[in-house]
Amino acid sequence: MLYNSTRNNQAEVSAAQAIVQGISKEGGLFVPESFPQVAMEDLVAISSKGYVERAEFILGKFLTDFTPEELHHCVSNAYRADKFSSDSTAELVHIYSGRYMLELWHGPTCAFKDMALQLLPYLLTTSAKKVLSDKEIAILVATSGDTGKAALEGFKDVEGTKMLVFYPEDGVSNIQKKQMVTQEGNNLEVCAIKGNFDDAQTGVKQIFTDKALAEKLAEHNIVFSSANSINWGRLVPQIVYYFSAYCDLLKNEQIQPGEAINVVVPTGNFGNILSAYYAKKMGLPVQKFICASNENNVLTDFIATGIYDRNRPFHTTISPSMDILISSNLERLIYDMYDRDDKAVSALFDQLAKDGRYEVSDAVKAKIQQEFYGGCCDDEQTKQTIQHVFEKYSYLCDTHTAVAVKVYEDYREKTGDTTKTVIASTASPYKFTNSVLAAIGGDTTVDDFTQIEELSKLSNTEAPIQLASLKEKPVRFTQSIEKLEMEATVLKALGL
Ligand SMILES: *Cc1c(COP(=O)(O)O)cnc(C)c1O
Repeated sequence: MLYNSTRNNQAEVSAAQAIVQGISKEGGLFVPESFPQVAMEDLVAISSKGYVERAEFILGKFLTDFTPEELHHCVSNAYRADKFSSDSTAELVHIYSGRYMLELWHGPTCAFKDMALQLLPYLLTTSAKKVLSDKEIAILVATSGDTGKAALEGFKDVEGTKMLVFYPEDGVSNIQKKQMVTQEGNNLEVCAIKGNFDDAQTGVKQIFTDKALAEKLAEHNIVFSSANSINWGRLVPQIVYYFSAYCDLLKNEQIQPGEAINVVVPTGNFGNILSAYYAKKMGLPVQKFICASNENNVLTDFIATGIYDRNRPFHTTISPSMDILISSNLERLIYDMYDRDDKAVSALFDQLAKDGRYEVSDAVKAKIQQEFYGGCCDDEQTKQTIQHVFEKYSYLCDTHTAVAVKVYEDYREKTGDTTKTVIASTASPYKFTNSVLAAIGGDTTVDDFTQIEELSKLSNTEAPIQLASLKEKPVRFTQSIEKLEMEATVLKALGL
């Protein structure tokens, strides 16, 4: 299996190269040259297996330059039982009449990003051995909250890697900050910057593209890499859990082999829902993909009109991980819908960079609408949904998942489509305690940790130990720097 780029379909690299490189030279994203097929008998067969075996089966079809032993090493370490609090890793829970929650937040940081960021370090270090001949990898991350913590947990004490995370001093929630500054591990550092997320991101990009710095690193046998969400190594692990959900439905005799399901995904950067679409390209029977957005509804409009237009106000919402106006992974869908026409994709994305806008052809719009339904809701509706689902079905969902539920119910009412449906549940409700507590009528005037206790009492659910125990954890990282000091901080952290 080789990989092409969305902006150059002649480019051919191995999976290991794609993962180490992250992004293609001309700015495109790496995509598999074809989609390996999974037969229904194979799905039935792996239904009796655990998550690790299911993952090895699916990933093996894409990572053909990894030996079975290497793949087993990566996957079995990433999804170790002591890292995921659910026996099934990605747990499927029936809520009511054909609606299933795919809980992707039982990992160390309580958000779905763990599903990919627990595996990426193993994929990256294994890939690096193949293509970089034992260099040390220095990973820089700029974060607005969730990605930084998930990356830290993933790369904690991973041999051959060093990680440095920059976060905006006043731009993350108290719990998110506490999660990062108490991080354990001997190969990492966390640093606040006096600036916003854009400053952190710009600083990291400048460091990545600094030639003199790259040479200095090379002298010491170090290369930079990123744990960014457009890396193929972050996308491919996400394909697995859609197959795994289908396997669970088969195993529990909730569907017949071959029966189509719907999939609902609360969407930001389009990575998670694209993984579901890729699963369908491999043979997973999916009828409709329901793409749910918050008030930043650029994707809802795109699916309805074929026009992608980011020239609109940016809204800060209670589902912050979906506050995004440039959905990077959409480029991979457009490439597929344009039948791998790299020229057409380059033209559209050049236009996006220039004008903040592009429009797809009528034929492509029709193809997209065939597969996808887009919908959105605001914060008020999100809170009402949390309350409604909790009162009616005794199920507590986080703000992002609630957006998905609301958009799905709108879809179901509008279309009368009662196909069995898997809803991606992307975060623990305790990760967004304040909004969730407010939605179900709790007291939000108390401090964060008291709110966690309050939510636990009111909902009769257990708070994830890794969040509740943060209160007692010692702070390890207190450094706060000016944005101009980022490069010096990186050099110092690498001991140069
Ligand atoms: C990152 C994130 C999303 C959005 O996922 P994309 O792959 O960017 O579409 C949704 N919910 C939560 C909780 C997240 O952390």
